[in-house]
Amino acid sequence: MRLSVIGCGYLGAVHAAAMASIGHEVVGIDVDEAKIAALRAGSAPFFEPGLSEILTSGVASGRLTFTTEMAAASGAAVHFLAVGTPQTTGGHAADLTFVNAAVEGLLPYLRPGDIVAGKSTVPVGTAARLAALIEPTGATLVWNPEFLREGWAVQDTVDPDRLVVGVTAGATDVVQTMKDVYHTAVAKGTPFIVTDYATAELVKVAANAFLATKISFINAMAEVAEVTGADVTQLADAIGFDQRIGRRFLGAGIGFGGGCLPKDIRAFTARAEELGRAESVGFLREVDAINLRRRDRAVQLVVGALDGVVFQKKVAVLGAAFKPHSDDIRDSPALEVASRLKGLGADVVVTDPQALENAARVHPQLTYEPSLDETLRGADVVVLVTEWDEYRRQLTPEHAGSLVAQRVVVDGRNSYDPALWRAAGWTYYGMGRP
Ligand code: NAD
Repeated sequence: MRLSVIGCGYLGAVHAAAMASIGHEVVGIDVDEAKIAALRAGSAPFFEPGLSEILTSGVASGRLTFTTEMAAASGAAVHFLAVGTPQTTGGHAADLTFVNAAVEGLLPYLRPGDIVAGKSTVPVGTAARLAALIEPTGATLVWNPEFLREGWAVQDTVDPDRLVVGVTAGATDVVQTMKDVYHTAVAKGTPFIVTDYATAELVKVAANAFLATKISFINAMAEVAEVTGADVTQLADAIGFDQRIGRRFLGAGIGFGGGCLPKDIRAFTARAEELGRAESVGFLREVDAINLRRRDRAVQLVVGALDGVVFQKKVAVLGAAFKPHSDDIRDSPALEVASRLKGLGADVVVTDPQALENAARVHPQLTYEPSLDETLRGADVVVLVTEWDEYRRQLTPEHAGSLVAQRVVVDGRNSYDPALWRAAGWTYYGMGRP
């Protein structure tokens, strides 16, 4: 099938390459010329495991092309909308400027029978509004939210947990076309949920709200553990054995960040307020507040670990990306902690296997060091903020101890075994652990 993907960021570039990898002829369209130039050369403009491979092979096969010209969407049977929906400046709602511009730009190229498939995360009610703009062209809108996880995006796109397609009543041809698009997943028996627009839009924000709530729940338990001497890690293990609860997403630490969870829960709250249902998701404000407090807590722990004297102390910050296996630094808790320590006068050195370039662009005031050993050398305190395997599994307390000035570690992700680090002479601080 011929497909177009409008917006080639973390979602769109992966979607375009993944669709080409399963046999479709795909054109990726973006307004960012540098991004398009990189993609056209078969080079991933961001770090995502497995993306380079499918990008290179797609471009080489001739089935995957990239352009800044919206006219190239002409002739595609399905047009995916994958542009950003960031938080508005000065508010909590989603900024739909890019979605509106993409749809406006696409309208002249739509033909009767085309499908426009919305993948961006949008406030409930957006699809119905966009459908009214699209329908006069004879094209049909479906809402097909995306659930990919950065770091596993290729796998999640080719082999998702479920597919959700929101349609208007009676749109059976459209549903079949969407099944043809995702033919490999459909052939495997992946759950394919056909629903209305509002449900499709809400499924996505509900899923993110649930995940954010689960993380903030355990972080709230960490706050209580901190004043009672309890160990939140053991608590999470113990409650996690209950299958109704489950252990995943119960890792207490400095909390969530990134380009999705924080802005999605805020946009959901803002939309619920508009709909007169503020109280229904009022708890998400608390989820957000708990999450942000954990960043304060990490800073407090570092200051405490340095006996309150931060000025010109070397702080080795392990991690910059909002999570491992990604170079995405949007709303990264790691960088917020690093920046705040820098603001207190510390000599902060940040390392990360993938995200240093992005971090340096947004936080030029910090010092970046690609080598882990150099970052650790002479440090007065080590702060683990992004749980890359390089820091979590491969770094031993003995090796780190041979480089630092003081054996003091603040484990912002509860990734280390405190007994092991203490046995190697370290003073260990975790999040919600004694
Ligand atoms: P992103 O910022 O990485 O990419 C958005 C892209 O859209 C950018 O490259 C931008 O240049 C492009 N763009 C903006 N206006 C355009 C226009 N008029 N025409 C063509 N291109 C345009 O964002 P992202 O992380 O890929 O997220 C995109 C959407 O997908 C958001 O709604 C997000 O919430 C949702 N989403 C993201 C993820 C994720 O893990 N990143 C997962 C699921 C859903």
